[in-house]
Amino acid sequence: MFGDRLPITIEPYKLARDAGVIEGDIPLEKCQRVLDALASEQGHCHVRLEFDIDPQRIRFVRGTLKGQLQVHCQRCMQPMPFEIDGEFLLAIASSDEAAANLPKQYEPLIVEDEKLELLPVIEDEILLTLPITSYHDEGECSVTSEMLVSGDVEEAQPETKPENPFSVLQQLKEKR
Ligand SMILES: [Zn+2]
Repeated sequence: MFGDRLPITIEPYKLARDAGVIEGDIPLEKCQRVLDALASEQGHCHVRLEFDIDPQRIRFVRGTLKGQLQVHCQRCMQPMPFEIDGEFLLAIASSDEAAANLPKQYEPLIVEDEKLELLPVIEDEILLTLPITSYHDEGECSVTSEMLVSGDVEEAQPETKPENPFSVLQQLKEKR
């Protein structure tokens, strides 16, 4: 199944009834919200969704995310690989009220019609899995800790360098 593309819309109630499985590579180029959080389009993420109905008659989806994406190193702002390996458990609910009554282990997935657009759901799950901060390992980063201490790094820490109005005047004088 490697390399399969995911369907754009799915029918979650039917899938739960049939204990269906959906699996495929996420088309990252169509996931703008995820791309905004990444350093590049390079990378891949595979999703597997298993639908079923639990003993309490709750329709649920067990999902796994696996792949490698490029995030920004917060120190040098260069891309760095991030291994994505996430799991989630969603319960299909027809309304907010129904969602509020779900057992705690489930994250609610509101499905008002028979059909559901799949990508936004997957995007939310990827965004929850991404690290809030990420740093290269010491030695792999293009910014060393000595550089940070000496203040040689300008582009990574623009806010630590206050604009001095007199230095601008000085530059103007020197240009004459
Ligand atoms: Zn770095």
